[in-house]
Amino acid sequence: MQTPLHNLTQPRAVERLVAGQPTSDGAGVKLTRVLPHTLQQRLDPFLMLDAFGSDQANDYIAGFPDHPHRGFETITYMLEGRVRHRDSAGHEGLLQSGGVQWMTAGRGVIHSELPEQEEGRMEGFQLWLNLPARNKLCEPWYRDIPSSEIPQWEGEGMVVRVIAGEHRGVAGAVQREHTEPLYLDVHLPPGARFEQTLPDSHNAFVYVYRGAVRFDSGCSVPRQRMAILANTPGSDGVRLKAGEEGARLLLIAGRPLGEPIAQYGPFVMNTQAELMQAVRDFQSGRLA
Ligand code: MN
Repeated sequence: MQTPLHNLTQPRAVERLVAGQPTSDGAGVKLTRVLPHTLQQRLDPFLMLDAFGSDQANDYIAGFPDHPHRGFETITYMLEGRVRHRDSAGHEGLLQSGGVQWMTAGRGVIHSELPEQEEGRMEGFQLWLNLPARNKLCEPWYRDIPSSEIPQWEGEGMVVRVIAGEHRGVAGAVQREHTEPLYLDVHLPPGARFEQTLPDSHNAFVYVYRGAVRFDSGCSVPRQRMAILANTPGSDGVRLKAGEEGARLLLIAGRPLGEPIAQYGPFVMNTQAELMQAVRDFQSGRLA
């Protein structure tokens, strides 16, 4: 069954374009911070989006040795490459091209994320999704989702990989009750039109990582730009069109939590006192 396209009556406009900032993290991994700290309130419940992509082993080989997390979820999506993860609870997994690791840090995880390749291309994304206050100290959980288990919608030359949420009747690999995240990887041939319904209250953005797209409002978004979509009351979704080279993009949206955000590095809680507790727990070996 195919849900017809072009059923939006008031697509969202682009509020602003943001260029990612080159930075490095972990033991010296080069990456682009697409969604920085300064946009956490605006894009609540999303806390961070990093993009990485390099053919040069020196840019990624050091990886992310043992480090903690508390209070949120990390979603790592590999376009290409292989990363081995191990955590303090004894879990281990290999994340490979096209696969996703969805990890709920909850009350605490200490883990490593290390490349399992010494040459070739490594490319992908890591998104941080906040947890509601009442779930910040939940039991840690994770799931490795190989590429073959990510649901896809295909048609008209398009491929829409549905990591979370739903697209045209295809339910994603992961659903979340409180933040209702939508996470789509959209591959569009030249000139293709794409639509997705979205509640106007959900915060949403598009990150174009190949080619370029144009919104109905006339706004063009080139490669390596994030477009923050306006939450215009009454708007019912997003509609865009690929440029003449086609496009690949992430569309990410979610229901804002509207709770205070307190961050200290890899800990994201609601108050300074909770952050200090996280640091004490980590230092005394009680985090995980
Ligand atoms: Mn990590």
